[in-house]
Amino acid sequence: MIEKLVCVNCGAEYSPHSADAPVVWMTCTTCGPAEGILDFHYDLDAVSESWLDSPLAKRERSHWRYAELLPLKESSLRNDWQVGWTPIIDAERLAMELGLERVLLKDEGRNPSASFKDRASSVGVAHALEVGANTIACASTGNAATSLACHSALAGIEANIFVPHTAPEPKLAQLLVFGARVFAVEGSYDQAYQLCSEACNHFGWYNRNCAINPVLVEGKKTAGLEVAEQVAAYGGVPDWVAVSIGDGCTIAGIWKGLAEMHALGVIDRLPRLLGVQAEGVAPIPYALSHGKLPEPGSGSTMADSIDVQVPRNWRKAVNALSAANGRVVCVSDEQILAAIRLSGRHGVFAEPAAAAALAGVVVAVDSRIIEPHESVLVMITGSGLKDIRSSIRAGGKPLSIKPDLASVEMAVENSS
Ligand SMILES: *Cc1c(COP(=O)(O)O)cnc(C)c1O
Ligand SMILES: [Zn+2]
Repeated sequence: MIEKLVCVNCGAEYSPHSADAPVVWMTCTTCGPAEGILDFHYDLDAVSESWLDSPLAKRERSHWRYAELLPLKESSLRNDWQVGWTPIIDAERLAMELGLERVLLKDEGRNPSASFKDRASSVGVAHALEVGANTIACASTGNAATSLACHSALAGIEANIFVPHTAPEPKLAQLLVFGARVFAVEGSYDQAYQLCSEACNHFGWYNRNCAINPVLVEGKKTAGLEVAEQVAAYGGVPDWVAVSIGDGCTIAGIWKGLAEMHALGVIDRLPRLLGVQAEGVAPIPYALSHGKLPEPGSGSTMADSIDVQVPRNWRKAVNALSAANGRVVCVSDEQILAAIRLSGRHGVFAEPAAAAALAGVVVAVDSRIIEPHESVLVMITGSGLKDIRSSIRAGGKPLSIKPDLASVEMAVENSS
């Protein structure tokens, strides 16, 4: 039930039905592809009415339940692709350890290709099918690509993927097994991104990159829609939602979903956002205070999914953080490793960029950004299987023993 598309730069409005709205649109015709990113606006009264007739509570337990808030025709929804409605783990012991009222872990690793990115890719591929595209492309630090390859395989269309040659092997393996054409770019993610855009223009491929294709952000938004519904069972809207930031589309998308649910009256207040970046790869705090990006730094982080020096969607991320009275904290690789263990001890297997959000909560608690009586929901954005080397680093070594009971006894004594 789209009302219009609005350019985030100049405010120009496009009707989704008018002839001048590009079909495989992407950007504002006046502002161009670099600045003219569009945003979907919905007729929320019509959505409310529709939900009265067909209540959410009775629907499909996947993100397709939000049909009215997705930029897809009814006939394009793919209920057969099980994406979203991921569980929330109420980590009571962790809350006690951190001295917080409540800590909720939303386990996005349980999506089809084991990361949050499936939300965006599933909607993107469904849209590509709707507009008759048979070839799709993206640049990615890994997860967006594997989720695109996964859904392209489900849809039977061709996926072209640009990754930095340093992407973790398990992510590459997933890509290749899903049958994508993989370009391992001998350069940074930023260079891979640029090259992908050029190739899309040159070959006419459908561009899945979230930063410029607003359809994808609508997929990411579903996490915010879901949180709004699910937290009712856990004491209501938490004081904070913690998310790690790379390009910034994830945090912006989650915020859009929460804000729509607030406007629709599903939740009566909004949480604050805690954005988390890695030390050494942290342009967002600067962008938040200066309204522009800093010169790209040369630092790096083990959290490859947020190893982004030039965030493509920094403006949307900064807007979301401002609207949410949000804060940004930075975490070291050591703190990320500790958070992988911490998350694991409470039943959720996190990749480094996912654990970074929890590491950020620990930092925010220590520095009293998050106060002792407050509650927080942490988006665990990807599975620990995504980067098994880092998981091994975090987990340490097993107890190596001879095959007899005496050895078990000795090992038990030594390890307790
Ligand atoms: C992509 C990703 C992020 C960050 O999302 P952005 O939209 O780039 O800010 C965080 N965690 C994981 C696991 C990701 O794959
Ligand atoms: Zn514009």
